[in-house]
Amino acid sequence: MSQTDTLYRGTSGNNQFRFFVADTTGIVQKAMDLHKMAPAPALLLGRLLTAAELMGADIKDSANKLTLNIEAEGPLKGALVVYEPEGRVRGYAKSPDYTHPDIGTNWHIGELLGQGTLNVIKDMKLKAPVTGTIQLLTGEVAEDVAQYYLVSEQTPAAVSLGVLFNTDGSVRAAGGYLIQQMPGVSSETTNQLTENLNNTPYITDLLDMGMSWEVILEKLIFKGMDWQITRNIALSYYCPCSKERFAAALRLLGKDELSTMLDGISPICHYCNTQYHFSSEDIGQIISSLG
Ligand SMILES: [Zn+2]
Repeated sequence: MSQTDTLYRGTSGNNQFRFFVADTTGIVQKAMDLHKMAPAPALLLGRLLTAAELMGADIKDSANKLTLNIEAEGPLKGALVVYEPEGRVRGYAKSPDYTHPDIGTNWHIGELLGQGTLNVIKDMKLKAPVTGTIQLLTGEVAEDVAQYYLVSEQTPAAVSLGVLFNTDGSVRAAGGYLIQQMPGVSSETTNQLTENLNNTPYITDLLDMGMSWEVILEKLIFKGMDWQITRNIALSYYCPCSKERFAAALRLLGKDELSTMLDGISPICHYCNTQYHFSSEDIGQIISSLG
């Protein structure tokens, strides 16, 4: 399933709108397999991973990356995801075991997050990172991402993010869209798009029915409007961690700190749950490499 995850970007309304649409079913399933989360944190992480794919598709240089960080006061706490070109995401939920007492009834992750912030960091490698922080609007992620574009980038955007689970907790469908309005758009065109979006069912339901993006764009989102896909990107859940990277991080701790770890340590990667073992010999070698 993960092989079919694709993002399409394009334009509509005589270039007055830019759109990004993606099926993220395989990526979200991969995250579920790696992290073994309860349903509420799984839903939060699935939506945030989908948001990162849509928002990151704009990043061109392979050295750049995008981080989305939700930090909240409620029991769900938040989640953090990282996007790297082309279409590679990874992330984790901050309260992966949190189980809502009324699970199965009508609950919203925004209520479980409570007051909080969405922080967006665009790391441009050679320049200082560009960051924007907004207060969570609803905590349902899509509205918060739209609010980020409006407040931090002065770009009105329509955002939809969906994750649909089977009763056994596996991912039935995940995906969404991000549509950005360019300056100078006519109110007629905006009204047409708004009406179309109001008449569009949940994207995950459409994907679950086996509907293609071509059909969703033509018959629903851009009904009666022009649209064209200009690019597609294959998406993946990817973690770049390795024992060497962990060793490099350990070196930064310095000799004194490392000398307290001489029995050996086994750090676990937050993003993919891979455990690395550093024996007392390994730690000794790192210490001696520091001179
Ligand atoms: Zn990892």
